[in-house]
Amino acid sequence: MNKDPVFIYGSVAYDCIETPFAKADYILGGSASYAALACSFFAPACIASKIGADFREADILRLQKRGVDTSLIERDPSQKTFFWRGKYYDNFNNRDTLEVRTEIYDNYEPKLGENAKNGKYILLANTSPRSQAKFLDGVRAPAFTVLDSMNLWIEIANPELRSLIKRANLLILNDSEARQLTGESNVIIAGDMLLSSFGAESAIIKKGENGAVLFHKDGMFTIPSYPVRSLYDPTGAGDSFAGALIGQIAASADSSFTGIKRAMLSATAVASLTVESFSCDKLENAGLAEIEARKKFLTEFTRV
Ligand code: AMP
Repeated sequence: MNKDPVFIYGSVAYDCIETPFAKADYILGGSASYAALACSFFAPACIASKIGADFREADILRLQKRGVDTSLIERDPSQKTFFWRGKYYDNFNNRDTLEVRTEIYDNYEPKLGENAKNGKYILLANTSPRSQAKFLDGVRAPAFTVLDSMNLWIEIANPELRSLIKRANLLILNDSEARQLTGESNVIIAGDMLLSSFGAESAIIKKGENGAVLFHKDGMFTIPSYPVRSLYDPTGAGDSFAGALIGQIAASADSSFTGIKRAMLSATAVASLTVESFSCDKLENAGLAEIEARKKFLTEFTRV
């Protein structure tokens, strides 16, 4: 396995989540937390982010226990950790953001350190495009950069997001975000447009329980989702998908069309673990054997 670390810039958060069946308060969340835990099964992961006075030491230890490098997580004792409250309806098909506390990232200038400045594999996990760009500015010669985003930034930071898309090697969006960004309701045409009109080198459009589609100059590829029977909380599925994806690409040092296809298999398997529990619980306790078993199942599942 290639030992190049993946540098993950994104949120480290506390979430309050309500699903049609259960509720949990102040649980570990954030795009970078999910992504780093998912990545750690394949490649060393280092998080760059900021937390406040209220962030529990035990949650730092949870990340470290999976080998995640937390040395670039800065604590600001005068502030409160990023907070997100979300509610799922209709059997998980709709989600509302009820509350979000973002002040901690308002004037955040990420400090990269020498290792991150020389980083090859970069995941710009979901957070504001302006600060994602700032982080990327600090990396001298990234070899492969994955960019994740969400509806909020498409709405309020559209120009910043559009210029960042041109700097990344792979853009990941879900189907509704791809429609919102391109203004095109057909997901296949939207994917084509991400490459032809938005300047993405390659793009993955995730379709929730219906899998994901890769758009690449060498062709298209699709993978179904792992058939989950015990959906508990979909929060973090996209972040885990992105983390495992870049972890697999870093481990194999293969970012070709085939390399990305292979990484989508790992990403799909890992994301299916995240949705089977609240927070990162299942993700952090799963073993590589379970991930490999899910990959094998997916391979068989799609073979004629
Ligand atoms: P996902 O379900 O993959 O979209 O990821 C949900 C996670 O992203 C939660 O743990 C939140 O803490 C985090 N999150 C939600 N909104 C934002 C935002 N605007 N910026 C950064 N992270 C966010």
